[in-house]
Amino acid sequence: MTETYGNCPFCQPAERILKENDYAQVILSNPRKVPGHFLVVPKRHVEKPWELKPEEVQSIFELIFFVEQKIIGKLGDGCDIRQNYRPFMKQSQLKVDHLHFHVIPRTLDDYIYSVSEKYETELFAELDDVEHDAVAKTLE
Ligand SMILES: [Zn+2]
Repeated sequence: MTETYGNCPFCQPAERILKENDYAQVILSNPRKVPGHFLVVPKRHVEKPWELKPEEVQSIFELIFFVEQKIIGKLGDGCDIRQNYRPFMKQSQLKVDHLHFHVIPRTLDDYIYSVSEKYETELFAELDDVEHDAVAKTLE
């Protein structure tokens, strides 16, 4: 029996499931950023990525790579894989606590680029030695 949590939309996605394996399933994101915006979701309600069991990680990435190969060349020329862990945001239509990975087809200068990522280059700054050493210490 798969563990479920309250009225979590990803614990009961039965009619939305497009593909599944032992521990994960594929649904379409709704709302979506672009056509072909898929979500790969573990069947068990997990909120923190590091709480996944090894077999769940394997099932999730098998489906991510399956979807990626299916959509490249059909819905986009490339693909973004993304997982957001944002416990500081309340669950809403745009934020579901149940862990999920976004698989988003991308093309050069697509809609996502035209409305937000064209500003992305401004986010990048040179990494200096002081910052490098300070941040690297977080992994100790
Ligand atoms: Zn859930």
